[in-house]
Amino acid sequence: MNDTKQPKVGFVSLGCPKALVDSERILTQLKTEGYDLVTTYDEADVVVINTCGFINDAVEESMATIGDAMAENGKVIVTGCLGSRDNSILKEYPNVLAVSGAHAYEEVMNAVHQHLPPVHSPLIDLVPPQGIKLTPKHYAYLKISEGCSHQCTFCIIPDLRGNLVSRPLHDVMEEAQRLVDSGVKELLVISQDTSAYGVDARYPTDFWNGQPVKRRMCEMVEQLSRLGIWVRLHYVYPYPHVDEIIPLMSDGLILPYLDIPFQHASPSILKKMKRPALSQKVLNRIQLWRNICPEITLRSTFIVGFPGETDDDFDMLLEFLEDAQLDRVGCFKYSAVDGAKANDLPNHVDEEVKQERFERLMELQNCISQEKLAEKVDSVITVMVDEIREDDDMVIARSQGDAPDIDGLVYLEDVENDGLKPGDTVRVKVIEAGEYDLWAELVDDV
Ligand code: SF4
Repeated sequence: MNDTKQPKVGFVSLGCPKALVDSERILTQLKTEGYDLVTTYDEADVVVINTCGFINDAVEESMATIGDAMAENGKVIVTGCLGSRDNSILKEYPNVLAVSGAHAYEEVMNAVHQHLPPVHSPLIDLVPPQGIKLTPKHYAYLKISEGCSHQCTFCIIPDLRGNLVSRPLHDVMEEAQRLVDSGVKELLVISQDTSAYGVDARYPTDFWNGQPVKRRMCEMVEQLSRLGIWVRLHYVYPYPHVDEIIPLMSDGLILPYLDIPFQHASPSILKKMKRPALSQKVLNRIQLWRNICPEITLRSTFIVGFPGETDDDFDMLLEFLEDAQLDRVGCFKYSAVDGAKANDLPNHVDEEVKQERFERLMELQNCISQEKLAEKVDSVITVMVDEIREDDDMVIARSQGDAPDIDGLVYLEDVENDGLKPGDTVRVKVIEAGEYDLWAELVDDV
């Protein structure tokens, strides 16, 4: 059929869901232009590495991956967050073919064209309308903006990815609609700050389906809620306008789930971090949300051992966790990221103290999370099927309170496979709760 030798590209995607979306865009373009995507360094004519530079561990992983690709292939194009520091990459690997920063799709494609020109073949049009996806077929990340205009002192994302630029609403909605048409059943809305959507352009009026719609989080979420699929919001700040979307959750139009990185609760630490929101106001806001939508699941992340964090500050954080009763919590020990302003703050905390605070926080939160999970036993909930394991008749699913990869799972044992497939939603009765996961039995199809 086609005897043209297609140019072959190897692709390595590192980092967070935002970087994953960048990778999907580059892969879609490569495929559109007829490049063959291969999975080993050996087969590839050129290797593209999408790097992460968020924390030092990620920098090390990215550098090691570049090293492996250079050793095993030798023709390497580097892009992504770490690419913004091209000096250090070129210093260690002077022979990489090109280096570009985050979401630099054009630069990556230019570099690929230069070192591996595409071969045009009229027989090749293998790109599905929704583009190339790195997630399973039934869920997808929807990136609504690039960059960030906050100045959190522990973070270098604004330096790496630039100021916030929100995508026009019709652009976001067209992509969402394409994904739904291709079979996606759950959209995970991501950005650096989802609640800031549109603020960079001062909330202009866009058009969607012939109607004027403001480029603003609440209006966008309202439009997404009409797609008839699960919509999950990540990286939302506790701003007052977030209150407006909670009724959509209680009406079952978007998932009753918010991923809100609070980072700390002590006013003095929040000030040093340059984070908005006072903890008392946050607690009131959480209470208000729960009054409107009692089943809401709240996930958050915190940093312990931030420079200047005293015992009192840390106690305040523990007290906040007791009061807030969050469902899921991730915790990081503060680690100095090269270039972050927080590095210059006085009174850095000893590693031992950081470790001890980390353990205390996790111990407290694990009790809270487990109690909250245990409360679900005997209730009937809706779950989405992620995977069918034929060998032991196990169906692996997620509840509305579980985001893929970061939260728990719901295991359905001994399910006769009566046509269930990934992306199906079913009603189940919870029979057991573990530390992170639930076990349940099928009730009936929704
Ligand atoms: S909100 Fe803060 S932590 Fe998040 S990307 Fe922006 S500067 Fe970094």
